[in-house]
Amino acid sequence: MPILAANWKMYKTIAEAQAWLDAVADRPALERAEVVVFPPLTTLHALRGRCQRLGLGAQDVGWAEQGAFTGMVSAAQLRDAGCGYALVAHSERRRYACEDDQAAARKIAALWQAGLTPVYCVGEDAAEREAGLGEARLQTQVETVLTALSNELGGRLVIAYEPVWAIGSGAPATPAQASDAAALIRKTVLSRCGAAAAARLSLLYGGSTSPETVRGFMAEPLIDGLLVGSASLDPNSFLAMLEVMVDA
Ligand code: PEP
Repeated sequence: MPILAANWKMYKTIAEAQAWLDAVADRPALERAEVVVFPPLTTLHALRGRCQRLGLGAQDVGWAEQGAFTGMVSAAQLRDAGCGYALVAHSERRRYACEDDQAAARKIAALWQAGLTPVYCVGEDAAEREAGLGEARLQTQVETVLTALSNELGGRLVIAYEPVWAIGSGAPATPAQASDAAALIRKTVLSRCGAAAAARLSLLYGGSTSPETVRGFMAEPLIDGLLVGSASLDPNSFLAMLEVMVDA
């Protein structure tokens, strides 16, 4: 099944989140895709249990199991709150919270330990791209994490290729660029973790996607789905993306 994930970032009150869910919850297309929402933590309780066909995820996770870590929320606490997924090292976390690949590896391990699915975000920024260092950056982001995890996937892994220059810019990567990145990521996982692990990997593209661009990305055999920011906030545009995806 294709994957459609919505990253709401720091948007929506509880009432707004409930209204979004009311608009989306009874759509038959939800049964033909793995749909996951990453809402603000404050809205999780209101969304939980209101739609069985919608997965819930957190936008970040603490790497520790429990303890004196003010401001952190553990993977087990997220599971307790109804989450089955968490984003790891989104570029905005890398930028504003100084998250690096080592921290990402610890978070992925913590999520597996609690039985959650990590969605590990990778991607080069504009300067790296212009300097011709995009592929190297991507490879380092994946390899550093795999090395820290002893080249073993201890659970399901989803990797989202999100070029930083495309996020929120209105100018997505082309499907061919996203496919090239997906090929590099899969090849890296294959060489480190073996064929079975690489086959289990799911690869998403994220960065300024919209209803108009879904078909092109989903036509790429190496792309399993999309991680959507801005266009996921309005239920109508999100549903339009879902409809195109399940028809593709
Ligand atoms: C994101 O931040 O994960 C994202 C994909 O954002 P947007 O779709 O708004 O570019």
